[in-house]
Amino acid sequence: MYDKDNIFAKILRGDAPSTKIFEDDFALAFQNIAPRAKTHVLVVPKGEYTDIYDFSANAPAELQAGFWAAVRKTVDILGLRDNFRTVANTGAGAGQSVFHFHVHIMSDERFKTDF
Ligand code: AMP
Repeated sequence: MYDKDNIFAKILRGDAPSTKIFEDDFALAFQNIAPRAKTHVLVVPKGEYTDIYDFSANAPAELQAGFWAAVRKTVDILGLRDNFRTVANTGAGAGQSVFHFHVHIMSDERFKTDF
């Protein structure tokens, strides 16, 4: 079940700070507070969805399209057109720690050599 007091909900409401990269009616992109790569940005939809499964099953088509367009626009702002990785951890067992759906956009020289 969605917890309205999760940290990303607070950021979307303006109740917690973030370093914004991009925002529109559908999504907000901001810097990860604890980056695991040289570039590490999070994109969150403006809707109450716990994870990618919930979002893809239940978000209106307009929000889904707007969210993925926001991911693309964030990539363009970061200048990463052909050099980034996306991750959407789903469930605590897979490393999800904030239960508001988000996509990690990461880029790092190290990615050339690991999986
Ligand atoms: P996940 O583990 O996939 O749920 O990712 C959650 C991510 O949110 C982690 O990489 C955290 O570093 C990041 N994070 C947690 N709190 C904040 C915050 N206040 N601002 C920005 N990023 C955050």
